[in-house]
Amino acid sequence: MRQSLTFIPTLREVPADAEIKSHQLLLRAGYIRQNTSGIYSYMPLAQKVLQKIQNIIREEMGNAGASELLMPAMQQSELWQESGRWYSYGPELMRLKDRHGREFALGATHEEVITSLVRDEIKSYKRLPLALYQIQSKFRDEKRPRFGILRGREFIMKDAYSFHSSFESLDETYEKMFTAYSRIFERCGLNFRAVIADSGAMGGKDTHEFMVLSEVGEDTIAYSDGSGYAANVEMAPVSAVYSRTAEECPDMEKKETPAQKTIEEVASFLSTAKENCIKSLLFKVDDRFVLVLSRGDHEINDIKVKNLFEARSAELATAEEAKEIMKCPIGSLGPVGVPEGVEIAADHAVKAIVNGVCGANEEGFHYVSVDAERDLKDVAFADLRFIKEGDPSPDGKGTIQFARGIEVGHIFKLGTRYSVDMDASYLDENGRSQPMIMGCYGIGVSRTLAAVAEQYNDEYGLVWPAAISPFDLHVIAANMKSDAQAALAEKVYQELSGTYDVLFDDRAERAGVKFADSDLIGLPIRITAGKRAEENVVEIKVRRTGEKLEVHADELSGVID
Ligand code: ATP
Ligand code: MG
Ligand code: MG
Ligand code: MG
Repeated sequence: MRQSLTFIPTLREVPADAEIKSHQLLLRAGYIRQNTSGIYSYMPLAQKVLQKIQNIIREEMGNAGASELLMPAMQQSELWQESGRWYSYGPELMRLKDRHGREFALGATHEEVITSLVRDEIKSYKRLPLALYQIQSKFRDEKRPRFGILRGREFIMKDAYSFHSSFESLDETYEKMFTAYSRIFERCGLNFRAVIADSGAMGGKDTHEFMVLSEVGEDTIAYSDGSGYAANVEMAPVSAVYSRTAEECPDMEKKETPAQKTIEEVASFLSTAKENCIKSLLFKVDDRFVLVLSRGDHEINDIKVKNLFEARSAELATAEEAKEIMKCPIGSLGPVGVPEGVEIAADHAVKAIVNGVCGANEEGFHYVSVDAERDLKDVAFADLRFIKEGDPSPDGKGTIQFARGIEVGHIFKLGTRYSVDMDASYLDENGRSQPMIMGCYGIGVSRTLAAVAEQYNDEYGLVWPAAISPFDLHVIAANMKSDAQAALAEKVYQELSGTYDVLFDDRAERAGVKFADSDLIGLPIRITAGKRAEENVVEIKVRRTGEKLEVHADELSGVID
């Protein structure tokens, strides 16, 4: 590709509102442009990276036995009503109406569509298991789109779904997907960890997130330095939640003054609070304290709250009890918790809360977060202990360390969550109707691009790992006005193009501009026809190490290999 013919608008200045390295560099190097908040165009260079990532994904999904399909982004509300998520998903789901007033959603995820597709076609156990995937734009009206394409409102996801007639079969596919995910992120060059994620009501090891280790990550993971153990901490100290409540909802405090309230009042309170505020209530349930938290923009309905307290004698705690308990940090489901005294941004706390976690501290104080997507009656009150950095870890090997992570992938055993509500069933060997058992597996494709950019850069720009670099080589004519340089660069470009994907900077720009752009764009190898062009000598520069080498143009392909 000739640079004079393509579209790589580079910027010298760091864009003012780009806080993190990957966002700054992807803008500066002309990979992405913002259209509006959380919505981006992928310019030609980014599109090439995306295609390379997608090809890796396609190969590994194929190895895992999954077939690619493409489902509609626009989805009729009826499907979402069947699963119940039309009511529970909240404002993250983009909704629209057609000219007849019929309601639709823009796909935030595709469980509903795929479940309806498969239930209509597959009736027998003989046709299971089945694994399908697509690569497509997803729409989520994120409350806080940020960091460029790391958290967009329109973003590219690979989403896979599997259907089974037994849990053993689901386990097998889950294992295959786990392996495929590990291979995908390895091949993209990422430094990542697979972590045990919060599985809420589902329990156990039924869900893993793939976390790219990075300071800018929004998740916190606890891992052992002596084994492969790692888990998402999903922690939320109550104090952070409370300070946010006080700041953003000054009149909430008053309304919330603990008093004896009925479940109905609590439910109505939870469902009416304004957007942007955290609602929290402290209950005494069976002599234990239960803190119910929810975010104002999640729809919480009466039934869920009722379910939670069904068969328990719940009453609100007194002001004194509340004060005592608010001093304690709270942990999360699983063998990890929040270390004493750790300050976590309210935002992070909110995330943990809406993800639906429950936990307790050593004294046995419990909290439950209200997650609209889950049926709270299933939430178990797990007994947890708090851990600190340096503590021994849960599997007896090494000590606990904390790190920040960017979630690039998430795999989940869904069980019959969708098949029961949506009536996706098959006939087993004995002719009995059974709900299909499902798994789902997501990768943020555009987020993966940003995560690689975040891990691979230096003071001069991006430094792509070869496997997903937009081009293999950058050929530059230092001075296009020099016939010798232009001709040699052209010859090198033509010759190498047979074997490699080459970007040729044939622009009539100053050499300094070309070199700066080249470093910014970050292709692994640069080949320059410069001062020694008349002798047929070019300079090779390795982007990552800065190593330089002069070679005769005829020997070039041998050297590059
Ligand atoms: P997050 O916790 O970051 O909001 P999520 O848990 O809501 O992500 P999933 O529903 O698990 O996301 O979706 C699968 C994958 O899609 C995620 O692992 C992530 O890589 C990607 N993804 C989710 N939301 C976004 C977004 N707003 N922008 C870019 N990628 C995203
Ligand atoms: Mg999310
Ligand atoms: Mg997540
Ligand atoms: Mg996730």
